[in-house]
Amino acid sequence: MFSREITEQLGSSSFIRKMFEEGNRLREIYGAENVFDYSIGNPEIEPPEAVKEALKRLVLDDTPGAHRYMSNAGFTDVRSKIAEKLKEESDVDISGEHVVMTCGAAAAINVVLKSILNPQEEVIVFSPYFVEYLFYIKNYQGKPVIVKANEETFEPDLERLEAAITPLTKAIIINTPNNPTGVVYKKEVLQKMAEVLKQKEQEYGTTILVISDQPYDKIIFDGVELPSILKIFQNSIIVNSYSKSLALPGERIGYIAANPLIENIETLMGCFTMCNRILGFVNAPALFQKVVLEAIDATVDIEEYKKRRDILYNHLIKLGFRCVKPQGTFYLFPESLISDDIEFAQAAQKYNLLFVPGSGFGCPGHFRISYCIDMKIIENSLPAFEKLAAEFK
Ligand code: PLP
Repeated sequence: MFSREITEQLGSSSFIRKMFEEGNRLREIYGAENVFDYSIGNPEIEPPEAVKEALKRLVLDDTPGAHRYMSNAGFTDVRSKIAEKLKEESDVDISGEHVVMTCGAAAAINVVLKSILNPQEEVIVFSPYFVEYLFYIKNYQGKPVIVKANEETFEPDLERLEAAITPLTKAIIINTPNNPTGVVYKKEVLQKMAEVLKQKEQEYGTTILVISDQPYDKIIFDGVELPSILKIFQNSIIVNSYSKSLALPGERIGYIAANPLIENIETLMGCFTMCNRILGFVNAPALFQKVVLEAIDATVDIEEYKKRRDILYNHLIKLGFRCVKPQGTFYLFPESLISDDIEFAQAAQKYNLLFVPGSGFGCPGHFRISYCIDMKIIENSLPAFEKLAAEFK
Protein backbone atom coordinates (compact mmCIF):
# COMPACT_ATOMS: atom_id res chain seq x y z
CA MET A 1 0.00 0.00 0.00
CA PHE A 2 2.82 2.44 0.80
CA SER A 3 5.96 3.62 -0.94
CA ARG A 4 8.85 1.37 0.17
CA GLU A 5 11.27 4.26 0.09
CA ILE A 6 9.16 6.53 2.26
CA THR A 7 8.33 3.84 4.82
CA GLU A 8 12.07 3.13 5.10
CA GLN A 9 12.74 6.84 5.59
CA LEU A 10 10.03 6.97 8.27
CA GLY A 11 11.90 4.24 10.13
CA SER A 12 15.06 6.35 10.28
CA SER A 13 13.12 9.52 11.16
CA SER A 14 15.29 12.48 12.06
CA PHE A 15 16.95 13.10 15.43
CA ILE A 16 15.53 16.62 15.38
CA ARG A 17 11.97 15.34 15.19
CA LYS A 18 12.60 12.86 18.02
CA MET A 19 14.02 15.60 20.23
CA PHE A 20 11.11 17.84 19.41
CA GLU A 21 8.68 15.14 20.57
CA GLU A 22 10.72 14.52 23.73
CA GLY A 23 10.59 18.27 24.41
CA ASN A 24 6.80 18.25 24.25
CA ARG A 25 6.70 15.31 26.68
CA LEU A 26 9.05 17.01 29.16
CA ARG A 27 7.21 20.36 28.94
CA GLU A 28 4.00 18.65 30.02
CA ILE A 29 5.71 17.20 33.08
CA TYR A 30 8.02 20.08 34.16
CA GLY A 31 6.48 23.21 32.60
CA ALA A 32 7.84 25.12 29.58
CA GLU A 33 10.25 27.33 31.57
CA ASN A 34 12.07 24.30 32.99
CA VAL A 35 12.75 22.50 29.72
CA PHE A 36 15.81 23.73 27.82
CA ASP A 37 14.88 22.78 24.33
CA TYR A 38 17.68 23.63 21.91
CA SER A 39 16.56 21.08 19.35
CA ILE A 40 14.78 22.88 16.55
CA GLY A 41 15.46 25.95 14.41
CA ASN A 42 12.03 27.51 14.79
CA PRO A 43 12.65 31.15 15.77
CA GLU A 44 10.86 32.38 18.87
CA ILE A 45 11.84 35.93 17.98
CA GLU A 46 8.93 37.84 16.40
CA PRO A 47 9.02 39.15 12.80
CA PRO A 48 10.15 42.81 12.52
CA GLU A 49 7.60 45.64 12.79
CA ALA A 50 7.97 46.38 9.06
CA VAL A 51 6.57 42.92 8.30
CA LYS A 52 3.64 43.30 10.67
CA GLU A 53 2.84 46.76 9.28
CA ALA A 54 3.03 45.55 5.67
CA LEU A 55 0.84 42.58 6.51
CA LYS A 56 -1.83 44.80 8.10
CA ARG A 57 -1.84 47.16 5.12
CA LEU A 58 -2.02 44.32 2.60
CA VAL A 59 -4.79 42.48 4.41
CA LEU A 60 -6.91 45.64 4.33
CA ASP A 61 -6.07 46.39 0.69
CA ASP A 62 -8.90 45.26 -1.59
CA THR A 63 -7.12 45.69 -4.94
CA PRO A 64 -8.89 43.29 -7.34
CA GLY A 65 -6.78 40.27 -8.31
CA ALA A 66 -4.48 40.37 -5.30
CA HIS A 67 -5.32 36.78 -4.36
CA ARG A 68 -5.40 35.18 -7.80
CA TYR A 69 -2.84 32.89 -9.41
CA MET A 70 -0.01 34.80 -11.01
CA SER A 71 2.82 33.53 -13.24
CA ASN A 72 4.26 30.35 -11.71
CA ALA A 73 7.50 32.30 -11.27
CA GLY A 74 5.84 34.89 -9.01
CA PHE A 75 4.91 38.57 -9.19
CA THR A 76 7.11 40.56 -11.56
CA ASP A 77 7.57 43.53 -9.22
CA VAL A 78 8.70 41.28 -6.35
CA ARG A 79 11.16 39.36 -8.54
CA SER A 80 12.59 42.61 -9.94
CA LYS A 81 13.06 44.06 -6.45
CA ILE A 82 14.92 40.97 -5.25
CA ALA A 83 17.11 41.06 -8.37
CA GLU A 84 17.84 44.76 -7.78
CA LYS A 85 19.08 43.99 -4.26
CA LEU A 86 21.23 41.09 -5.50
CA LYS A 87 22.70 43.30 -8.20
CA GLU A 88 23.65 45.91 -5.60
CA GLU A 89 25.36 43.27 -3.44
CA SER A 90 27.13 41.38 -6.22
CA ASP A 91 27.63 43.77 -9.11
CA VAL A 92 26.33 40.93 -11.33
CA ASP A 93 23.85 42.03 -13.97
CA ILE A 94 20.90 40.04 -12.66
CA SER A 95 17.27 40.99 -13.35
CA GLY A 96 13.78 39.84 -12.36
CA GLU A 97 13.81 37.19 -15.12
CA HIS A 98 16.48 35.36 -13.17
CA VAL A 99 14.38 35.09 -10.02
CA VAL A 100 11.58 32.62 -9.24
CA MET A 101 9.55 32.98 -6.04
CA THR A 102 9.16 29.74 -4.05
CA CYS A 103 7.55 28.24 -0.95
CA GLY A 104 10.65 28.77 1.18
CA ALA A 105 14.21 27.54 0.64
CA ALA A 106 13.07 23.91 0.94
CA ALA A 107 10.86 24.24 -2.15
CA ALA A 108 13.56 26.27 -3.90
CA ILE A 109 16.11 23.43 -3.49
CA ASN A 110 13.57 20.86 -4.68
CA VAL A 111 12.70 22.94 -7.74
CA VAL A 112 16.37 23.36 -8.63
CA LEU A 113 17.19 19.67 -8.15
CA LYS A 114 14.16 18.52 -10.13
CA SER A 115 15.17 20.89 -12.91
CA ILE A 116 18.73 19.63 -13.25
CA LEU A 117 18.98 15.98 -12.15
CA ASN A 118 18.86 12.82 -14.21
CA PRO A 119 18.92 9.45 -12.39
CA GLN A 120 22.29 8.64 -10.74
CA GLU A 121 23.74 12.10 -11.24
CA GLU A 122 25.68 13.26 -8.23
CA VAL A 123 25.26 16.20 -5.90
CA ILE A 124 28.07 16.98 -3.47
CA VAL A 125 27.14 17.97 0.07
CA PHE A 126 29.60 18.90 2.84
CA SER A 127 29.27 17.24 6.23
CA PRO A 128 28.10 18.34 8.73
CA TYR A 129 25.03 18.94 6.55
CA PHE A 130 21.40 19.98 6.74
CA VAL A 131 19.96 16.47 6.62
CA GLU A 132 17.05 17.35 4.33
CA TYR A 133 19.50 17.75 1.43
CA LEU A 134 19.88 13.99 1.28
CA PHE A 135 16.13 13.45 1.01
CA TYR A 136 15.77 16.20 -1.58
CA ILE A 137 18.52 14.75 -3.80
CA LYS A 138 16.96 11.26 -3.57
CA ASN A 139 13.55 12.74 -4.48
CA TYR A 140 14.88 13.06 -8.05
CA GLN A 141 16.93 9.81 -8.14
CA GLY A 142 20.11 11.75 -7.66
CA LYS A 143 23.03 10.45 -5.62
CA PRO A 144 24.26 12.45 -2.61
CA VAL A 145 28.06 12.44 -2.34
CA ILE A 146 29.19 13.49 1.10
CA VAL A 147 32.48 15.31 1.51
CA LYS A 148 33.79 15.99 5.00
CA ALA A 149 34.37 19.65 5.78
CA ASN A 150 37.69 20.72 7.30
CA GLU A 151 37.58 19.49 10.93
CA GLU A 152 39.20 22.65 12.35
CA THR A 153 37.22 25.35 10.53
CA PHE A 154 34.16 23.50 9.21
CA GLU A 155 34.78 25.18 5.85
CA PRO A 156 34.86 23.11 2.64
CA ASP A 157 37.97 20.93 2.35
CA LEU A 158 39.09 21.59 -1.21
CA GLU A 159 41.34 18.56 -1.62
CA ARG A 160 38.54 16.25 -0.58
CA LEU A 161 36.17 18.17 -2.84
CA GLU A 162 38.46 17.80 -5.83
CA ALA A 163 38.79 14.06 -5.23
CA ALA A 164 35.00 13.65 -5.02
CA ILE A 165 34.14 15.32 -8.34
CA THR A 166 33.38 12.90 -11.19
CA PRO A 167 31.91 13.30 -14.67
CA LEU A 168 28.51 12.66 -13.02
CA THR A 169 28.81 15.60 -10.61
CA LYS A 170 25.91 17.88 -11.45
CA ALA A 171 25.96 20.27 -8.50
CA ILE A 172 27.42 21.15 -5.14
CA ILE A 173 25.27 22.46 -2.33
CA ILE A 174 26.96 24.98 -0.07
CA ASN A 175 25.36 26.56 2.97
CA THR A 176 26.88 29.70 4.40
CA PRO A 177 26.22 30.88 7.09
CA ASN A 178 26.04 27.22 7.95
CA ASN A 179 23.52 25.08 9.73
CA PRO A 180 24.65 23.39 12.01
CA THR A 181 28.08 25.05 12.58
CA GLY A 182 27.26 28.78 12.29
CA VAL A 183 30.41 29.23 10.18
CA VAL A 184 30.57 31.84 7.40
CA TYR A 185 32.84 30.63 4.57
CA LYS A 186 35.76 32.94 3.86
CA LYS A 187 36.06 34.63 0.48
CA GLU A 188 39.48 33.04 -0.19
CA VAL A 189 38.10 29.55 0.40
CA LEU A 190 35.21 30.18 -1.99
CA GLN A 191 37.53 31.68 -4.61
CA LYS A 192 39.81 28.63 -4.44
CA MET A 193 36.75 26.42 -4.68
CA ALA A 194 35.74 28.26 -7.87
CA GLU A 195 39.18 27.45 -9.33
CA VAL A 196 38.83 23.77 -8.45
CA LEU A 197 35.40 23.66 -10.10
CA LYS A 198 36.57 25.44 -13.23
CA GLN A 199 39.44 22.99 -13.63
CA LYS A 200 37.17 19.99 -13.18
CA GLU A 201 34.59 21.41 -15.58
CA GLN A 202 37.33 21.74 -18.20
CA GLU A 203 38.71 18.30 -17.51
CA TYR A 204 35.32 16.56 -17.83
CA GLY A 205 33.60 18.96 -20.23
CA THR A 206 30.74 19.37 -17.76
CA THR A 207 28.96 22.17 -15.93
CA ILE A 208 28.93 21.97 -12.15
CA LEU A 209 26.30 24.19 -10.56
CA VAL A 210 26.92 25.72 -7.16
CA ILE A 211 23.63 25.80 -5.27
CA SER A 212 24.10 28.25 -2.45
CA ASP A 213 21.50 27.67 0.24
CA GLN A 214 21.55 30.86 2.28
CA PRO A 215 18.49 31.35 4.48
CA TYR A 216 20.77 32.71 7.25
CA ASP A 217 22.46 35.32 5.05
CA LYS A 218 21.22 38.23 7.17
CA ILE A 219 22.04 36.64 10.53
CA ILE A 220 25.75 37.47 10.72
CA PHE A 221 27.70 38.96 13.64
CA ASP A 222 30.91 40.84 14.38
CA GLY A 223 30.91 42.85 11.14
CA VAL A 224 31.71 39.73 9.09
CA GLU A 225 30.53 39.95 5.47
CA LEU A 226 29.04 37.20 3.38
CA PRO A 227 31.03 37.01 0.14
CA SER A 228 28.85 37.28 -2.98
CA ILE A 229 28.30 33.81 -4.40
CA LEU A 230 27.03 35.21 -7.72
CA LYS A 231 30.27 37.16 -8.11
CA ILE A 232 32.58 34.26 -7.21
CA PHE A 233 30.92 31.40 -9.12
CA GLN A 234 29.72 31.82 -12.68
CA ASN A 235 27.50 28.73 -12.50
CA SER A 236 25.74 29.74 -9.30
CA ILE A 237 22.19 29.54 -8.08
CA ILE A 238 21.08 31.13 -4.84
CA VAL A 239 18.25 29.49 -2.93
CA ASN A 240 16.97 31.62 -0.14
CA SER A 241 14.04 32.33 2.14
CA TYR A 242 12.64 34.75 4.67
CA SER A 243 12.08 31.97 7.22
CA LYS A 244 14.97 33.08 9.39
CA SER A 245 15.83 36.65 8.31
CA LEU A 246 12.22 37.80 8.84
CA ALA A 247 11.24 35.00 11.26
CA LEU A 248 8.51 33.73 8.93
CA PRO A 249 9.16 29.98 8.67
CA GLY A 250 5.48 29.07 8.78
CA GLU A 251 4.59 31.37 5.89
CA ARG A 252 6.70 29.49 3.30
CA ILE A 253 8.23 32.28 1.27
CA GLY A 254 11.58 32.27 -0.51
CA TYR A 255 13.18 32.43 -3.93
CA ILE A 256 15.65 31.05 -6.45
CA ALA A 257 18.04 33.48 -8.14
CA ALA A 258 20.28 32.20 -10.92
CA ASN A 259 23.44 33.74 -12.29
CA PRO A 260 22.62 35.23 -15.73
CA LEU A 261 26.00 33.96 -17.00
CA ILE A 262 24.96 30.30 -16.77
CA GLU A 263 24.83 28.78 -20.23
CA ASN A 264 21.25 28.44 -21.54
CA ILE A 265 19.94 30.48 -18.63
CA GLU A 266 16.56 31.04 -20.28
CA THR A 267 15.90 27.30 -20.51
CA LEU A 268 17.03 26.88 -16.89
CA MET A 269 14.62 29.59 -15.71
CA GLY A 270 11.86 27.97 -17.76
CA CYS A 271 12.62 24.65 -16.00
CA PHE A 272 12.38 26.31 -12.56
CA THR A 273 9.02 27.87 -13.39
CA MET A 274 7.74 24.58 -14.77
CA CYS A 275 8.97 22.61 -11.73
CA ASN A 276 7.41 25.10 -9.32
CA ARG A 277 4.14 24.21 -11.06
CA ILE A 278 4.47 20.46 -11.47
CA LEU A 279 5.84 19.78 -8.01
CA GLY A 280 2.49 21.13 -6.90
CA PHE A 281 3.68 24.39 -5.35
CA VAL A 282 2.11 26.27 -8.34
CA ASN A 283 3.36 29.61 -7.05
CA ALA A 284 4.69 31.11 -3.82
CA PRO A 285 2.01 32.59 -1.52
CA ALA A 286 0.69 35.79 -3.10
CA LEU A 287 0.23 37.72 0.12
CA PHE A 288 3.70 36.99 1.45
CA GLN A 289 5.37 37.82 -1.86
CA LYS A 290 3.93 41.31 -1.39
CA VAL A 291 4.91 41.41 2.29
CA VAL A 292 8.56 40.72 1.50
CA LEU A 293 8.47 43.34 -1.25
CA GLU A 294 7.35 45.97 1.25
CA ALA A 295 9.70 44.81 4.00
CA ILE A 296 12.67 44.04 1.74
CA ASP A 297 15.18 45.96 3.88
CA ALA A 298 13.98 44.67 7.23
CA THR A 299 15.57 41.90 9.30
CA VAL A 300 14.95 40.42 12.71
CA ASP A 301 16.96 41.99 15.51
CA ILE A 302 20.37 40.41 14.90
CA GLU A 303 21.67 41.76 18.24
CA GLU A 304 19.19 39.48 20.02
CA TYR A 305 20.84 36.46 18.41
CA LYS A 306 24.33 37.79 19.09
CA LYS A 307 23.49 38.16 22.81
CA ARG A 308 22.35 34.55 22.89
CA ARG A 309 25.42 33.33 21.04
CA ASP A 310 27.74 35.19 23.39
CA ILE A 311 26.16 34.01 26.61
CA LEU A 312 26.09 30.36 25.51
CA TYR A 313 29.43 30.28 23.72
CA ASN A 314 31.25 31.92 26.66
CA HIS A 315 29.57 29.60 29.14
CA LEU A 316 30.43 26.47 27.18
CA ILE A 317 34.07 27.49 26.69
CA LYS A 318 34.34 28.24 30.43
CA LEU A 319 33.03 24.73 31.12
CA GLY A 320 35.73 23.20 28.92
CA PHE A 321 33.75 22.50 25.74
CA ARG A 322 35.56 22.88 22.41
CA CYS A 323 33.59 24.84 19.84
CA VAL A 324 34.27 26.85 16.67
CA LYS A 325 32.97 30.37 17.38
CA PRO A 326 30.04 30.87 15.01
CA GLN A 327 29.84 34.10 13.05
CA GLY A 328 26.25 33.65 12.00
CA THR A 329 22.95 31.73 12.23
CA PHE A 330 21.53 30.78 15.61
CA TYR A 331 23.41 27.53 16.06
CA LEU A 332 26.45 26.32 17.99
CA PHE A 333 28.12 23.01 17.16
CA PRO A 334 30.41 22.04 20.05
CA GLU A 335 32.26 18.76 20.50
CA SER A 336 30.51 16.34 22.82
CA LEU A 337 32.44 15.45 25.97
CA ILE A 338 32.41 11.77 25.03
CA SER A 339 32.86 10.39 21.53
CA ASP A 340 29.38 8.87 21.47
CA ASP A 341 27.30 11.96 20.75
CA ILE A 342 24.01 10.06 20.93
CA GLU A 343 24.78 8.81 24.44
CA PHE A 344 25.87 12.35 25.33
CA ALA A 345 22.58 13.87 24.12
CA GLN A 346 20.68 11.20 26.04
CA ALA A 347 22.66 11.98 29.20
CA ALA A 348 21.75 15.67 28.80
CA GLN A 349 18.05 14.86 28.84
CA LYS A 350 18.11 14.07 32.53
CA TYR A 351 18.89 17.77 33.12
CA ASN A 352 15.99 18.66 30.78
CA LEU A 353 18.58 19.77 28.24
CA LEU A 354 17.65 18.88 24.68
CA PHE A 355 19.96 19.19 21.71
CA VAL A 356 20.60 17.21 18.56
CA PRO A 357 23.57 14.79 18.30
CA GLY A 358 26.05 15.59 15.52
CA SER A 359 25.31 12.19 13.97
CA GLY A 360 22.04 13.73 12.78
CA PHE A 361 24.16 16.04 10.59
CA GLY A 362 26.62 13.34 9.49
CA CYS A 363 29.21 14.54 12.03
CA PRO A 364 29.45 12.34 15.14
CA GLY A 365 31.27 13.57 18.24
CA HIS A 366 29.44 16.91 18.24
CA PHE A 367 26.05 18.30 19.14
CA ARG A 368 23.95 21.14 17.82
CA ILE A 369 22.44 23.83 19.99
CA SER A 370 19.72 25.89 18.32
CA TYR A 371 19.49 29.06 20.40
CA CYS A 372 16.60 30.87 18.71
CA ILE A 373 14.67 30.55 21.96
CA ASP A 374 13.62 32.82 24.81
CA MET A 375 16.52 34.47 26.68
CA LYS A 376 15.00 33.51 30.05
CA ILE A 377 15.15 29.80 29.12
CA ILE A 378 18.76 30.23 28.02
CA GLU A 379 19.64 31.80 31.37
CA ASN A 380 17.76 29.07 33.25
CA SER A 381 19.63 26.41 31.27
CA LEU A 382 23.16 27.48 32.28
CA PRO A 383 23.29 25.36 35.48
CA ALA A 384 22.09 22.34 33.47
CA PHE A 385 25.15 22.67 31.19
CA GLU A 386 27.32 22.86 34.34
CA LYS A 387 25.84 19.62 35.66
CA LEU A 388 26.34 17.94 32.29
CA ALA A 389 29.98 19.05 32.10
CA ALA A 390 30.60 17.90 35.70
CA GLU A 391 29.22 14.46 34.89
CA PHE A 392 31.86 13.91 32.18
CA LYS A 393 34.88 15.57 33.84
N1 PLP B 1 18.37 25.19 4.45
C1 PLP B 1 18.84 25.23 5.69
C2 PLP B 1 20.30 25.16 5.91
C3 PLP B 1 17.97 25.32 6.78
O1 PLP B 1 18.46 25.36 8.02
C4 PLP B 1 16.58 25.38 6.53
C5 PLP B 1 15.63 25.42 7.64
O2 PLP B 1 15.92 25.22 8.78
C6 PLP B 1 16.14 25.33 5.21
C7 PLP B 1 17.05 25.24 4.18
C8 PLP B 1 14.70 25.37 4.86
O3 PLP B 1 14.24 26.67 4.97
P1 PLP B 1 12.75 27.10 4.63
O4 PLP B 1 11.99 27.09 5.92
O5 PLP B 1 12.87 28.45 4.07
O6 PLP B 1 12.21 26.13 3.65
